[in-house]
Amino acid sequence: MHELSIITNLFELLEEKAVEQKANKIVHVKLQVGLLSGAVPDLLKTSFDIYKKDTMAAEAVLEIEEVPLKYQCQDCKTEMVKDDYIILCEKCGSTNLKAVAGTDMFLLKMDIEI
Ligand SMILES: [Zn+2]
Repeated sequence: MHELSIITNLFELLEEKAVEQKANKIVHVKLQVGLLSGAVPDLLKTSFDIYKKDTMAAEAVLEIEEVPLKYQCQDCKTEMVKDDYIILCEKCGSTNLKAVAGTDMFLLKMDIEI
């Protein structure tokens, strides 16, 4: 499962940061997930809840902010937000579009208790 390996990596990052800040526990985690990152938010939450037991984040809540897909037309430079996979420029009809947002995942915020 793709989401489980994402969560495994996330926990490595979280625990590293938590140790750096001498935290006792992690209470809140906020992720920004792009629609095109390939990760399904619901599955991420489920994986997080399974994985968090016996970690510093055992009581942590995972919050996910979804980022819509944004394309830029390489011909007329128009930027547009799309929630589907029809890749066609709204202005000039070109198919020469490049995804500029919504393709990645970031850790936005982590709240800890010391
Ligand atoms: Zn265009």
